[in-house]
Amino acid sequence: MNIPNYLAENDIKPSYQRIRIFEYLYHEMNHPTVDLIYKTLAPEIPTLSKTTVYNTLKLFVDKGITSTVTIENNEVRYDAIVTHHGHFKCNVCGIIVDIPLNFNQLNLNELKDVTIEQTQVHLIGKCNKCLTI
Ligand SMILES: [Zn+2]
Ligand SMILES: [Zn+2]
Repeated sequence: MNIPNYLAENDIKPSYQRIRIFEYLYHEMNHPTVDLIYKTLAPEIPTLSKTTVYNTLKLFVDKGITSTVTIENNEVRYDAIVTHHGHFKCNVCGIIVDIPLNFNQLNLNELKDVTIEQTQVHLIGKCNKCLTI
């Protein structure tokens, strides 16, 4: 993906900091928090502040190129995948893994005349790595 073009196509001025933040989100696919993005990029981008990271992510969400994942109430994590999908979270190491969702297999017959605006499907447990410790 050409990230500067992708940002521009979505009406976002591709500044250096914005490019780096989206690049991180898109390549790591680790559902980072603001803190993690800040801690990872700050050594390379001395002008970066936590507020900039937060505001940049908010802009990405507003423009529809990033989604938020809130599994625990106090922790917002960010995702470059904006299509409907679910998440598995390990409650030991905190890793979040994407799960494809097949809406054709969901029984939505009880729902009449509604629109779905958000999908939050969370499975919580222990990942393979943590189970073997
Ligand atoms: Zn784990
Ligand atoms: Zn995800």
